[in-house]
Amino acid sequence: MAEIVSPKKQPEYVKEHLQKFNLAACMTCGTCSSGCPITGTPGMEGWDTRKTLRMLVYGMTDEVVYSKFPWICTGCGRCAYGCPMAIDIPYIMLHMKHLRPRDQVPGILHKGVENCIKTGNNMAIPKQDYLFLLADLGNELAEEECPGFYVPVDKENADILFFPNSKEVFADNDDMKWWWKIFYAARENWTVPSENWESVDWGLFTGNYEATKIFAQRKIEHMKRLNIKRMIMPDCGGGSYGCRVGMETCALDNPENRVNFIYLYEYLVEIIKEGRIKLDKSVHAGKTFTWHDSCKHGRELERHFGKGFYEEPRWIIQQCVDNFVEMEPNRANSYCCGAGGGMWPMPYEDESAYHGRMKHRSIKETGADVVVVGCSNCHDQLMKRLPKYYDDHDYEVKYIWELVADALIIEPWSEEEIKKAEEEAEAQWKKFGIDLDEMF
Ligand code: SF4
Ligand code: SF4
Ligand code: SF4
Repeated sequence: MAEIVSPKKQPEYVKEHLQKFNLAACMTCGTCSSGCPITGTPGMEGWDTRKTLRMLVYGMTDEVVYSKFPWICTGCGRCAYGCPMAIDIPYIMLHMKHLRPRDQVPGILHKGVENCIKTGNNMAIPKQDYLFLLADLGNELAEEECPGFYVPVDKENADILFFPNSKEVFADNDDMKWWWKIFYAARENWTVPSENWESVDWGLFTGNYEATKIFAQRKIEHMKRLNIKRMIMPDCGGGSYGCRVGMETCALDNPENRVNFIYLYEYLVEIIKEGRIKLDKSVHAGKTFTWHDSCKHGRELERHFGKGFYEEPRWIIQQCVDNFVEMEPNRANSYCCGAGGGMWPMPYEDESAYHGRMKHRSIKETGADVVVVGCSNCHDQLMKRLPKYYDDHDYEVKYIWELVADALIIEPWSEEEIKKAEEEAEAQWKKFGIDLDEMF
């Protein structure tokens, strides 16, 4: 006989939060569950989005909070995009994560947040190691192909503030060089912070609203302290969305916290259209490329802030390649890769790969050789995790800024420009106690 469930009394603080979402308006139509790639996840039988929301309506908050369901939700927003009652389901799931006691947050996520708060990056990389790496790798790039190149750190009055991703600083070091080459070719007046440089908003992964605000406030402080014109929103979809929300909150608290920012797609379009960089498509001849619409740079940005980046990345790619094919579904209907909302570092790899099956199928159906992405989690998921689960995985994965960097025609710097940059680099590293002679 079916179990009869009676509504429970919600704690006031939960009731207050859920009232914002008009859950009572839910028509139980099931559109959310039908569009959600985690419906049917092995081991999660009996769970789906509609049912989870019903449980909340019935006051079964603890059952949801202590389940795996909100954690395997990537916050991709496909459910909310289709919901006829415009219920903000990803935010409800995020709040369920928020309600989990911090010592019961899965895997390393809470540790990552704590590291970010204490050390300014989730891997707790010491400042001198970070600076040494920037000096060393920068010098490598200068010797390889960009004479005069160095990474400007804490440069006052720069036009662009850029935030590294700790994955690159910790392990995939050379991946930083693509953006560096673009800045070099564009003769950009840019900089990175010496401290609190983590791009990704780890608070978003665990529903830690306070942390999200701290990380956003730090970015704002860098902008004000160094008097910088614009910051590039961090590359990761989740980070970008989290950062944007955090910055809006800080600006509501104090209007002086409002700073200028630009999305990476807008930046690339700008420097290409202004002729500040030139591209040669022939380097990509013979290959077919497709674009993965990341949820947080597309659908979720559009839903929350009225503008998703759909056409800009397509335009940028077509400046770099001749053969571009669309993926289906695309734009706001695109499937998530399965690594969002902290699912890349979370201990739910099987569930994440199951989620990614829809994206993998979409990519395969294009027949493309290369899938281009604009988010570091999408990149790692498609390039490192999915090949372990899907035998027919045979496509390359490239960042959109990698594609641009590979196609760059770099106009040589003059002797004066090189000499000036070398003098600036020497003075900068001396100021930070990095001994260039000892290093090289
Ligand atoms: S799509 Fe919206 S209205 Fe339909 S079941 Fe889901 S939450 Fe309810
Ligand atoms: S945000 Fe994505 S993963 Fe989460 S419930 Fe909605 S469709 Fe499913
Ligand atoms: S990892 Fe990429 S595809 Fe997945 S939720 Fe984040 S932005 Fe979307």
